[in-house]
Amino acid sequence: MSRSFLLAASILALVLPSAIAQAQSAQTVHDGLLTLDTHLDTPANFARPGWDIMDRHKVSDRSQVDYPRMVEGGLKGGFFAIYTPQGPRTPEGDRAARDAALIRAMEIREMVAKHGDHFELALKADDAARINAEGKRIVFMSIENSYPLEGDLSLMETFQKLGVRLIGPVHFKDNDLGDSATDKPEWHGLSPLGQRFVAEANRLGLVLDASHASDDVLDQMMALSKTPVILSHSGCKAVFDNPRNIDDARLRALAASGGVIQINSLSAYLIPTPKNPERDAAMAALMKKAEGGQLTAEQRGALEAEFAAIEAKYPQTKATFDDFMQHLLHALSVAGVDHVGIGADMDGGGGVTGMEDVSGYPKITAALLAAGYTRDDLAKIWGGNVLRVMKQAEAYRASLASAAH
Ligand SMILES: [Zn+2]
Repeated sequence: MSRSFLLAASILALVLPSAIAQAQSAQTVHDGLLTLDTHLDTPANFARPGWDIMDRHKVSDRSQVDYPRMVEGGLKGGFFAIYTPQGPRTPEGDRAARDAALIRAMEIREMVAKHGDHFELALKADDAARINAEGKRIVFMSIENSYPLEGDLSLMETFQKLGVRLIGPVHFKDNDLGDSATDKPEWHGLSPLGQRFVAEANRLGLVLDASHASDDVLDQMMALSKTPVILSHSGCKAVFDNPRNIDDARLRALAASGGVIQINSLSAYLIPTPKNPERDAAMAALMKKAEGGQLTAEQRGALEAEFAAIEAKYPQTKATFDDFMQHLLHALSVAGVDHVGIGADMDGGGGVTGMEDVSGYPKITAALLAAGYTRDDLAKIWGGNVLRVMKQAEAYRASLASAAH
């Protein structure tokens, strides 16, 4: 045995136990937190034939969130999104989107009803701690893209009654409510209808979500809204300049107004990825087929197969866990611990090398502890901040009700 080997072995003997102890304590801290992810696209899987959230699925099956992996990753719950791709802005398009969103809301409620021992629908901020104490996972409902409501804003109350508590106006394209971050300016912010949408969200106690919205929409939402705005899954422009990310000045304005940015883990928004026009064209064609309306099981199966084929033929460059942490640490340094959280876009394009699904979430806690953040900071980042904003939205709604008496 060489001397250097013995030396290395004795150094390892010193270092390893403390490394293991550190990892164990990070896991203990993580397991004790009320952890919420504000953007889970998992409901898109609920209608997949034979798919059950209680089974363990694989990332290769395009699944990143299920009950077993939520338990493994110490994820106590989150906001389950009713996502509708933007389609034609016609009365027919609006109605088809409305129907698809209502059905998706029902599918979320059905999942909770079917697995009531393990999941519960949360309707107010305080429900989260109670449901967590009962050992169940917390299901908040959110709307990503309010295209389904643009034909009739009174539907906002319908969705509020169904359980929606977080709502964003747009997705990849402009719509009748306002401009998307990834489309050309049409309204230069919110449309007049979009301004009414903000007021109605406030009236109903819904938290406004500016992820996917243009910078102008974010500015106008912050100015108009009576309660703080959140970005449910976004990143930092200072780390990577992309329209889906926000600049430091807006990050500071968001924090000053009491809002929160929840950090995304979607590779193309975290790092520069080589242009992949064939993939983009193939995905755009696929998205067009999935627009609006409802799909039959056969149509859905065909689209899934096509998606898998595109993934295999034109793979995407993946960001790493460290890239994700750069956005998270930057946001924390600019906005502060009271204004940052986690919204990793799992089942919606998120997931990085080293954190492929929600089972990897304890790594975030370990990395933040290693960066010097405390357990109290982590409690805010992992859920406290977004629950605070929800409480503000609830309090505003209650103030209107008491003023009316
Ligand atoms: Zn999204």
